[in-house]
Amino acid sequence: MEVSTRGPDETRALARAVAQAVEPGALIALEGDLGAGKTTFVQGFAEALEAQEPVASPTFVLLRVYRGRLPIYHFDAYRLEGVHELDDIGAEEYFWGDGVSLVEWADRIAEALPGDRMRVHIEHVGENERRLRIDASGPRHARMLGRIRW
Ligand code: ADP
Ligand code: MG
Repeated sequence: MEVSTRGPDETRALARAVAQAVEPGALIALEGDLGAGKTTFVQGFAEALEAQEPVASPTFVLLRVYRGRLPIYHFDAYRLEGVHELDDIGAEEYFWGDGVSLVEWADRIAEALPGDRMRVHIEHVGENERRLRIDASGPRHARMLGRIRW
């Protein structure tokens, strides 16, 4: 699916709609340049899952865990030195666990991610306009994608 948003609130609203459609074990790969709106998307997503604290935006930490209706694993691969760092924190356990993983800069670690996943590609169109393309690879995430109501 392809959606244009006109401001961060609309991107957060779209992310809430995606969050309503996912199942435990979902993996959302976020792609897009710095300032595209990846973290903004995670904020809306976590809100919908009733995360107990707001999602932080600085990109210094590889993984933050939020507790909500499902555990939320927020990865940011921006400063990752190599995929071995993912092994160091046991990322596989999170990707294959019963929470929901969202990975910023997922294109940098694509080979380390399970093949069945949802991709959210965010493109900067104008100051407040973004184009989001959401697609799924694999049957599990295709099913979740089909449930998004927007
Ligand atoms: P990233 O994590 O991709 O680097 P952020 O979500 O941290 O990006 O930042 C996106 C910035 O763009 C925020 O300052 C946000 O307010 C702004 N913005 C403006 N329009 C939009 C939009 N339509 N969707 C998302 N963010 C937007
Ligand atoms: Mg970010």
